[in-house]
Amino acid sequence: MSGKARYPHLFAPLDLGFITLKNRILMGSMHTGLEEAENGFERMAAYYAERARGGVGMIITGGVAPNSEAGFGAKLSNADEAGQHKIITDAVHQADKNVKICMQILHMGPLADSEACVSPSGIKSRIGAFTPLELTASGIEKQIADIVNCALQAQIAGYDGVEIIGAAGYLLSSFLVAKTNRRTDKWGGSFESRMRFSLEVIRQMRAALGDEFLIIYRIAAMDMLQDGMSWDEVVLLAKNLEALGTNIISTHFTWHEASVPTIATMVPRAAFTGVTGRLRKELNIPTITSNRINTPDIAEAVLASGDADLVSMARPMLADPNFVGKTLEGREEEINTCIACNQACLDHTFSGKVASCLVNPRACHETELNYDPVVKAKSIAVVGAGLAGLSFACVAAERGHTVTLYEAAAEIGGQFNLAKKIPGKEEFVETLRYFNQQLAVHKINLHLNTKVTTAMLTTQNFDEIVIATGIEPRIPDIEGISHSKVVGYVDVINGHAEVGRKVAIIGAGGIGFDVAELISHTGKSGALDINVFARQWGIDFKNHPRGGVTGVEPLVVKSDREVCLLQRKTTPVGRELGKTTGWTHRLTLRRRGVKMINCVEYLKVDDEGLHVRLDNRPEILDVDTVIVCAGQTSLRSLYDDLQDGGLSISLIGGAHLAAELDAKRAVNQASRLAAVI
Ligand code: FAD
Ligand code: NAP
Ligand code: SF4
Repeated sequence: MSGKARYPHLFAPLDLGFITLKNRILMGSMHTGLEEAENGFERMAAYYAERARGGVGMIITGGVAPNSEAGFGAKLSNADEAGQHKIITDAVHQADKNVKICMQILHMGPLADSEACVSPSGIKSRIGAFTPLELTASGIEKQIADIVNCALQAQIAGYDGVEIIGAAGYLLSSFLVAKTNRRTDKWGGSFESRMRFSLEVIRQMRAALGDEFLIIYRIAAMDMLQDGMSWDEVVLLAKNLEALGTNIISTHFTWHEASVPTIATMVPRAAFTGVTGRLRKELNIPTITSNRINTPDIAEAVLASGDADLVSMARPMLADPNFVGKTLEGREEEINTCIACNQACLDHTFSGKVASCLVNPRACHETELNYDPVVKAKSIAVVGAGLAGLSFACVAAERGHTVTLYEAAAEIGGQFNLAKKIPGKEEFVETLRYFNQQLAVHKINLHLNTKVTTAMLTTQNFDEIVIATGIEPRIPDIEGISHSKVVGYVDVINGHAEVGRKVAIIGAGGIGFDVAELISHTGKSGALDINVFARQWGIDFKNHPRGGVTGVEPLVVKSDREVCLLQRKTTPVGRELGKTTGWTHRLTLRRRGVKMINCVEYLKVDDEGLHVRLDNRPEILDVDTVIVCAGQTSLRSLYDDLQDGGLSISLIGGAHLAAELDAKRAVNQASRLAAVI
């Protein structure tokens, strides 16, 4: 069945009077770091043009500041800067003249990383770097004028419209909420006064831009703040924005400072679209919904249910620039799905690095990482079908090489087969579905249940051999490590080891945390059930108290198990976890009563339990089970044994370097090798 027939809502054009969107899928705004990078505009042009060719109806750029006090390096306030933006708009419109591109205007207000940052009442945010300056009345007028000028420059630069962000704790939203707006002049006090700043921005923008230029307002539909915006306030603001000429309302959920995850992989798909649906009923202009919509089926279902007019997908467009094209052609199974890990996108952005994507390292690197067709095809053997071997094999075959892939296990995926069993990581199965599909598309000769030996490789005439045999779990040198109480994480995750009621976990890296999640978890995974998720994080979708969370306590389900998560390092436990997701894992386990202990010295394991030294005092952790999650070592004997054979051999993934290996590094390294081999 064609994509249009299967997804009638997704592929219905949207007529906005002066402009028509060719479909209902837009690429949501993401700051990628290209905005400030060398040759950033050329790189952004290539990045956005690739998504335009991939079929999206509309693109919203990453946030651009209207002035220097507003935040990021990326600023648009004059004709020179507008000229640079033209590189982007030209590239997108040349790629497909029917694709629209709007620039997001981002005034970070109290969250700007600048001593000159400003806010309504000079109140420092919990997550802000600086105490903002309190705006004077004329300062407020200046900020509005700068925002309007920024929009005008965007129009000159060839954008089809602008989106202004009125959410997340940035300037516009900091006017809306009483806790950050204590003003007593006309910009503060009642909600009518607090929303004046947003309304004035839209009123002046519309007057300056004329009627035929898109204005999208990103509203904090559920800001997840105690004492945040009430539902009535959200509706009142949206109706006023509509009356002033806003073309589209885009819904946003959460302020950055709130303690509720809204896009991480443990958030159920399309968790927040119902909130958009409720707002849509109040308005006569189209609404955009977003967050954890990552497949065509989900997107179609959201539109079909009447929850929104348009679906915004940001990270899924990093993961697969051709998401829409594949959907249209009925090749949905070939979509490289965003697994919501944040590891290469948001974690990079918030660390000041250029964003990319764990499952697609080409994202934001379109000008330097390309998979060009080969001039002369080679015959290549790949050993190991974990993420490194799979990525290499698929890119090499896509380029035209003949690839034979060997895997000792009965299925592809390596460690990702363990990861997908962790509650909250159910999405990881999509990556394996994608690779299975790619193996078929590129006609890769896959040999499962085949443990490769040196003889097997030396007796065949491969031009290249790539060893991607991964890792083996480290067994720490602790007295009594062979005791019957001690089990490894592989057996625990696969359900092959019994785990008692009192447990010590040796090692508090990513896998230690995942194992703690697995064994302390009861009931349904929150990622699969919106009610469970809402209870876990204290959200009331039904009654929508202020912020969606005011007065709602997260339902803490203590684990039946007593679990201790241990590490030797002196740093706080879990500090190395993902920048944007680590807090959710730490908080979840803490709420369940999992103890996290650092500075541990392991002494021995015996019938009494795990003997440790804590604060220079020996102690016995009276546990039934000790689970070892103490990192890994490379499995590279095959590579070492082949060294003297005069063969052309490469080593990738965990087999190359086990320390600090994650799937992001494995995929990136493998894809880059395959791009040049
Ligand atoms: P592996 O996945 O170990 O694959 C190696 C493959 O080679 C295996 O399938 C093995 O069977 C095969 N093999 C070995 N020897 C032979 C042989 N002689 N012949 C044929 N085949 C052979 N990373 C992240 O980035 N984010 C996460 O959230 C995350 N979560 C994780 C959760 C868990 C529970 C685990 C265990 C890992 C997690 N990881 C995560 C780590 C990630 O899965 C690995 O870094 C990545 O898969 C490494 O890929 P690899 O291909 O190098 O190795
Ligand atoms: P890891 O993150 O390197 O953690 C290993 C843990 O073992 C550390 O806590 C370390 O802490 C401890 N350790 C190391 N050597 C030890 C020894 N000899 N004796 C006792 N303890 C020892 O590795 P991992 O947890 O195995 O994860 C593997 C990779 O998968 C990581 O790179 C991780 O990024 C990735 N992963 C990521 C996620 C994610 O959510 N992003 C989830 C799972 C896995 P001390 O040395 O302080 O004791
Ligand atoms: Fe999605 Fe992870 Fe890629 Fe970000 S890095 S786009 S969350 S798959």
